[in-house]
Amino acid sequence: MSTYAAPLKDMQFVIKELVGLEDITAMPDCAEVTGDVVDAVLEGAGKFAAEVLDPLNREGDKQGSKLLDGKVTAPQGFKEAYRQFITGGWNGLSGQTEFGGQGLPHVVAMPVQEMWNSANMAFCLCPMLTSGVLEALKLRGSPAQQQMYVPKLTSGAWCGTMNLTEPQAGSDLSAVRTRAVPEGDHYRIHGTKIFITWGEHDMAENIIHLVLARTPDAPEGVKGISLFIVPKFLVNPDGTLGEHNDVKCVSIEHKLGINASPTCVLSYGDEKGALGYLVGEENRGLEYMFIMMNHARLGVGLEGVALAERAYQHAREYAKTRVQGRAIGQKSGDRVTIIHHPDVKRMLLSMKAQIEAMRALAYTASAALDKSRHHPDDKERRRNQALVDFLIPIVKGWCTESSIEVASTGIQVHGGMGFVEETGAAQYLRDARITTIYEGTTGIQAADLVGRKVGFEKGATAFAVIGEMRKLDAELARGKNADVAAQRDNLKRAVDGLGSATQWVVDTFPKNPNAVAAVSVPYLKLWGIVGGGWQMARAALIADSKLGIGGDADFYRAKIATARFYSEHILPQATALSAEVVNGAASVLAMSEAQF
Ligand SMILES: Cc1cc2nc3c(=O)[nH]c(=O)nc-3n(C[C@H](O)[C@H](O)[C@H](O)COP(=O)(O)OP(=O)(O)OC[C@H]3O[C@@H](n4cnc5c(N)ncnc54)[C@H](O)[C@@H]3O)c2cc1C
Repeated sequence: MSTYAAPLKDMQFVIKELVGLEDITAMPDCAEVTGDVVDAVLEGAGKFAAEVLDPLNREGDKQGSKLLDGKVTAPQGFKEAYRQFITGGWNGLSGQTEFGGQGLPHVVAMPVQEMWNSANMAFCLCPMLTSGVLEALKLRGSPAQQQMYVPKLTSGAWCGTMNLTEPQAGSDLSAVRTRAVPEGDHYRIHGTKIFITWGEHDMAENIIHLVLARTPDAPEGVKGISLFIVPKFLVNPDGTLGEHNDVKCVSIEHKLGINASPTCVLSYGDEKGALGYLVGEENRGLEYMFIMMNHARLGVGLEGVALAERAYQHAREYAKTRVQGRAIGQKSGDRVTIIHHPDVKRMLLSMKAQIEAMRALAYTASAALDKSRHHPDDKERRRNQALVDFLIPIVKGWCTESSIEVASTGIQVHGGMGFVEETGAAQYLRDARITTIYEGTTGIQAADLVGRKVGFEKGATAFAVIGEMRKLDAELARGKNADVAAQRDNLKRAVDGLGSATQWVVDTFPKNPNAVAAVSVPYLKLWGIVGGGWQMARAALIADSKLGIGGDADFYRAKIATARFYSEHILPQATALSAEVVNGAASVLAMSEAQF
């Protein structure tokens, strides 16, 4: 079984050279984050991922979490790993400094989270949800709520969860039925939430649930949903823990993957009603929850990158050791390892190229998030907010869909040994499979992209990004390196296709939103593939400019070769996707429901 090694070189390249760490650290709030600090954080996180989290991944998958008498026990070793995680200060990496966090920008937290997800995604879901709760409380919690909950959530002494889903309310949260009845300064919560990740466990002293519910006179639909803090153990005014709230775990799901993370059915208010505390104003809960979901959606996109990376490392190691057949044209002599077969090399390169493109796009979104929060110029803050809002459904949808493909290719590289559980390659595909479903399915991300983003804005941000992509053409034309210059035509064709498809979405959305919905997922994938190609071409140009002036020449050469592969093997898919968007809606809409 291979062990995980953080891809530090590529992460550092993306943060420092591609995304521009200097722009982030030049902002007043981030001035303390030097390149050396980043290197130290990444190295420490990589060590923790490899030495503490990775060894638990396979066993955690086999054992799963266990429910007994309403109490959930995490797999062996998880509680101790969590203790080490929080005592090492990892939980508060990007937390607010006034509440004990380290205030590191998202662009530094991203690679760290990628490492943890690669090493053990089931474990990582727990701190990821806590950070989403922190995000919502930071922006919408009252000062008293912040004082009471944020320090413990930042240190990781307490964990957080997100409670949206009910049996009849999945993608459509307007159907939420959980009730919140006012009683003095609090509410009594009654209802059932399903699929709640890390909804109950033994790793932390307390669990702070953020719960969507309706007050008695709330209007119908999404405008009648409020957000409540419901602690597992009530918190006394002095911060000590009081009695167990009226919430219990009644079952945990048996799943395809991420088995170590308990996915719970939580029952609220079987007795007197669980005590809940309103966050912000009544009936604005969904709006607040979106704050947390946006954060989590970027995090889930990153899970896609992380699982793909893990699957790639596993497949690469197997391909370097598995001996099978002779090199083409050789009838005698030594048999070779399978990495010598051009088709295996192609599979590995397709994995590597997609991962590097996904990483570049995801980290670009996180840099925009940092600038939207910390840039001193208001106009830049707003421009970056529009960019990050635009990129989130693409990163979430495309990176997760691609991770399934990459993990599946990883199995193919293993041949039959990929299909049996012992090698571990199958776990990555099973774990990756959830990422396109939770935090909004790919269909929901695509609906967000074509509706609330491109349609609503009449393509303003989309065309601005396409404009940035077009600027690369002149740079590629000037390139003297044949491997870099070779990317020019493919990128131009792909960007033209994206431009035509975007114009079609902008023109069609107001008069026929159904037609746009019918091809929204291909449109999202088109954005991912071309967005990735844009970043890979930028990476190739940067790498080329560094060749011969010091640095790691082997890394830069490999980057250029990988970018060329991406442009020749992945980017051409854009042409077909663009045609599917522009021409494909009618055949979907022509088929009646009765014809299935
Ligand atoms: C392992 C796991 C962990 C989870 N963790 C959490 C958690 O911590 N907290 C939480 O609240 N929830 C959690 N969920 C729930 C998860 O977010 C939902 O499963 C997800 O949002 C989809 O809802 P659904 O399962 O009801 O599917 P449905 O909404 O029934 O969707 C079924 C299909 O219909 C499509 N569809 C539905 N509506 C539309 C539409 N309007 N437009 C286009 N397509 C549509 C979907 O894309 C999908 O393909 C978890 C789920 C799982 C499996």
